Amino acid sequence: MEIKAIRGMNDILPEDVSKWRFVEETARRIFALYGFEELRTPILERTELFLRGIGDDTDVVEKQMYTFTDKGGESVSLRPEATASVLRAVIEHGLLTEDPIRKLYSLGPMFRYERPQKGRYRQFHQINAERLGEEGPFSDAETLQLAYVLATSLGLKNVTMEVNSLGCEDCRAQFKKALQEFLMKQADRLCPDCSRRMRTNPLRVLDCKAASCKEAVIGAPVIEDFLCSDCRDHYQQVLASLDAFGVPFRKNPNLVRGLDYYTRTTFEITAEGLGSQNAVAGGGRYDSLVKTLGGPETPGIGFAFGMERIIMLLGESIMPAYGCFIVAQGDEEVRRYAIGLLTELRSAGIAAESVPEKSFKAQMRRAGKSGYPLCAIIGEDELKDSMVTIKNLEDSSQVKIARADAREKIAALLKDRGENA
Ligand code: AMP
Repeated sequence: MEIKAIRGMNDILPEDVSKWRFVEETARRIFALYGFEELRTPILERTELFLRGIGDDTDVVEKQMYTFTDKGGESVSLRPEATASVLRAVIEHGLLTEDPIRKLYSLGPMFRYERPQKGRYRQFHQINAERLGEEGPFSDAETLQLAYVLATSLGLKNVTMEVNSLGCEDCRAQFKKALQEFLMKQADRLCPDCSRRMRTNPLRVLDCKAASCKEAVIGAPVIEDFLCSDCRDHYQQVLASLDAFGVPFRKNPNLVRGLDYYTRTTFEITAEGLGSQNAVAGGGRYDSLVKTLGGPETPGIGFAFGMERIIMLLGESIMPAYGCFIVAQGDEEVRRYAIGLLTELRSAGIAAESVPEKSFKAQMRRAGKSGYPLCAIIGEDELKDSMVTIKNLEDSSQVKIARADAREKIAALLKDRGENA
């Protein structure tokens, strides 16, 4: 019997890998501009880390975690998100003792046992950023701007940034109380999950996707009215700095996000073209999380982008493959001439391929399929005159150039093509 992949877990096939690499490389380039360093953690952690770090009354921990007992009898879980693992590593290796300000990013797979649908998988990948040791509004605004720049650099269209403040423990407690009182009166309109959450975690009701819950929270108290003066100042300065950074945003008082650890600033980025799962990134501040996980009291803020959703949005509009196909028509000597060019292009960092033993027609067909914008044709004439014919595979135009200039000319044509793409 044929064995298939587990539902909600996807293979990334060769034809899509260039998109993944583009996303990963863009992320790495942008993070470097902001002084972020890469950190890699295991995908398996002790279950307790996520119970403590994310909160046991969240959907992610309560319903979606892949948890099992290993052969040593320990409960372990596949990571459902990166922040708890990153902070565990930071604490374990004393990274904050070395430097009280750390800016870290990581890329990799996450696991959540959700109902798979378009844009929602059981294994998915995130680009994750964590910034530790700064509590001022500048660090919030700069982190949000970094997320915004990443979204636009990835070519996402109609990027919208929504922002909210969840206040600190003190002001949130007051808001929770007022919200709970309001929700009690709406209890019969709430979905079964929210009827329970209303008591344990009423903020979550605000971002429930059920239509009845969405209606029930119309007119609910708004957190901004409950912020203490410190949190209010912080929020206002974040918004002012976002303006200074030139990031367009919209305030959304119902943006509470799914994880328990957020304090003050939270945000979400949506982009055009995703349908119902339209959030491409989300994040926020978590000033007590490092302490909760056993580290020194350290403020922090972070975000995560879902890579599958970015890839879906990239569609076919990806940079052309940077390379040249070489077609050789002739005897052994022509082939040797072609091998010379193949080798020279590759050593200059230009991808090159050839199937010189096939018929001319088959070689041209393969060149067309290669995805490269150029093809170099070498036949008896070219060999005799020390020339190469360069064919532009997009508009079929051809030029004959001296073999001695071929590498430089091909590189220049590819560069122009890349810049105009
Ligand atoms: P979260 O960690 O839930 O805040 O999610 C951050 C981002 O990860 C979301 O905006 C999505 O782009 C992505 N994401 C979350 N869950 C999934 C999933 N099950 N499948 C695909 N992408 C996801």
